[in-house]
Amino acid sequence: MAFVLIGFMGAGKSTVAGRLARLRGRSALDSDVLLAERFGHSVAREFELHGEESFRAAEEELVCRLLGDVSARDVVALGGGSVLSARVRDALDGHVTALLEVAPDTAWERVQAAEDGSERPPARDREAFGALYAERRGLYEEVADAALLWAESASGDYPVFVGDGLLDGKDGGGDRLVTIWPLAPIASRPYGVTDTNVARLYGERLSALGDPDAPPEQIAIEPGELHKTLASAELVWRELARRGMTRADHVVALGGGVVGDLAGFCAATYQRGVPVVHVPTTLVAQVDSAYGGKTGVDLPGAKNYVGAYHQPAGVLVDPGMLATLAPAELAAGWVEVLKTALIAGGTLWERVSAADGCYVDKRTILDCARTKLAIVSADERDGGRRQVLNLGHTVGHAIEAVTGYARYRHGEAVGLGLLAALRLSGAEDLRARVRELLLARDLPITLDSANVDIEEIVAATARDKKRLGADGVPFVLLSTPGEPQIGCEVADDELRAAVRELAS
Ligand code: NAD
Repeated sequence: MAFVLIGFMGAGKSTVAGRLARLRGRSALDSDVLLAERFGHSVAREFELHGEESFRAAEEELVCRLLGDVSARDVVALGGGSVLSARVRDALDGHVTALLEVAPDTAWERVQAAEDGSERPPARDREAFGALYAERRGLYEEVADAALLWAESASGDYPVFVGDGLLDGKDGGGDRLVTIWPLAPIASRPYGVTDTNVARLYGERLSALGDPDAPPEQIAIEPGELHKTLASAELVWRELARRGMTRADHVVALGGGVVGDLAGFCAATYQRGVPVVHVPTTLVAQVDSAYGGKTGVDLPGAKNYVGAYHQPAGVLVDPGMLATLAPAELAAGWVEVLKTALIAGGTLWERVSAADGCYVDKRTILDCARTKLAIVSADERDGGRRQVLNLGHTVGHAIEAVTGYARYRHGEAVGLGLLAALRLSGAEDLRARVRELLLARDLPITLDSANVDIEEIVAATARDKKRLGADGVPFVLLSTPGEPQIGCEVADDELRAAVRELAS
């Protein structure tokens, strides 16, 4: 079983195939390169000399032979049009196929910049290029087992796979998981970190990564934010050491945002840093926390106060795992979708604000991941642009800390924080719309004022780690979806009024 990349021209399949192959210690094969070798000239030249039909016939023959001969776990990149052939689609059975995602504008720019790219007939006209992209998209999705986003940041690149049943053990699923796993599980042993709920539901899904008689080691902490602590981190570090984890091995964070933040922090610090692969199982984690490399634990009065930046070696998302999530957890996770849509604006905001309920499809997960990854790639360490992701979090974190991480779920607190941020932004209509959306999902729109001290929340907001200067708290404000503003100064009395309003 090989790993095969498909996708539109300009997606970057050759580059990504090379990087994935290096991560796994395998070879990368590229059908366009092999065809050019056979022709003795470029693919574009072949189109010109003998036309598309002749090219497609040669491509079909070469790709079918390649897929028949390829060694298990090699990485193969196919030309953009190769899956038009039914024979090629049949030959893909038995391999793992991933669709490398690319926006049409990016694909167009890359193809124009490539040496002979713009000479290819489909790349000569922008409109025809766009039409072909739209036409092929459905076919690619049908053929692929997973979508693949290639995440880029200053400290490293990594694959993000999103696909239903990616971690299912059935019907050769174990082999599929080993084939798609970003690191070679034989050279680098996986050490699972999870919580007891997730261990019970999905713990055995990682067993394919070990030997039949020696499944991977797994450490389960108690579930929930109350356990995102240094004490849990120490427990994990000690267990990793006791079970013989070395620097050649890697951590697998199997769980929600709590497990992801904690396991990522343990990976960042264990023996001064080992790789971590994230397998997010909650909506918060699938749309947000698994990407971008922020890891850490809470202190009693201050959320995420101790941590490290540590980019993942890969992220595997199976949206099917959300089926077992409690409705209240799904709703809380949906707030991160709402936050991302407010930041992104455009079609994501339109889709999310028009949808009923909390159900989130694969496309929305991908769009949220893409939005976050684009922001992180421009500013990995929160020096500027990345701060937009804190929309709603400044007051949200304060609410969580003041209520002892027990009264509100993270997403519920962020929902309240969004209402405060929109009040401070003077975005009355947008605030009213967000309030309606939260209400429709049974999410809190007011603070439980009998049990929550407003002054404490104002003080905790000032302690928030995003505080940069001595005067006032720099906020992320937003008056129109898609146009967040970072570093906005907010006077204490305005903040007090916005938090007080939540209690009324
Ligand atoms: P969580 O990890 O506590 O999970 C919520 C509950 O769902 C837990 O009880 C867990 O055991 C259970 N669960 C997990 N997956 C399940 C499944 N598939 N089926 C059934 N139950 C399941 O909470 P969360 O909301 O996922 O994450 C919140 C945390 O994420 C917060 O600590 C927050 O600070 C952090 N976060 C981090 C980032 C980041 O960039 N690092 C971004 C956003 C949020």
